[in-house]
Amino acid sequence: MADSPTPLPAFTTWPSFPFEGTFSVKALEEPVDPEPTRKGEDIADCAACQAPDDAYIWVNERWRVRATEKPPGLPMVLLLEPRTHLDLGDLPNLLAAELGVMTVRVERAIRSLDNVARVHVNRWGDGTAHMHMWFMARPRGALQMRGTFLPMWDDILPPISEAQWKESLAMVAAWLAEFGGTALAQPPRIDWQAPAKLSEPAPAELAVE
Ligand SMILES: [Zn+2]
Repeated sequence: MADSPTPLPAFTTWPSFPFEGTFSVKALEEPVDPEPTRKGEDIADCAACQAPDDAYIWVNERWRVRATEKPPGLPMVLLLEPRTHLDLGDLPNLLAAELGVMTVRVERAIRSLDNVARVHVNRWGDGTAHMHMWFMARPRGALQMRGTFLPMWDDILPPISEAQWKESLAMVAAWLAEFGGTALAQPPRIDWQAPAKLSEPAPAELAVE
């Protein structure tokens, strides 16, 4: 007798589910024991520990915030990391308490962007050992992207423009720096000022008084 297919879960009917068409549930694989180590489990191979501060948009003594490598599809995707090579459950009380403060701060900083309605905060930690908290911005008005499928929508949407991305990163970094630390993200060069007629004013024009 043939196995009957696993019924599809209810979320495939949600308006936020990004796919349509015919689906079937994958067969469950056998559990792996022991599990393989994650990337950067050893501090010597940890990309976060090796990364210089200028790979981040904002830093302080104990925390760093970085952007994705390329412009995301969502208006903003950021990662919050402790400087110390620790996973979430290993954070000492000081860092654990600061994680709460930093989470609220980064959420507010991203939500201050004009085109952002909500910021989703996630920690998975299956891929990379060094603790990293994800912050993903849902575009304002994009009700279809509400909820748990937002990370998928990030990959589905076309990337935002480099200029918009850089400008938003600089705004978030400046917002964070209001509470301390150093903003490292700079706004993009404004190319439209490049033509000669818009170049620097002549010295006489500068002398206004
Ligand atoms: Zn590390």
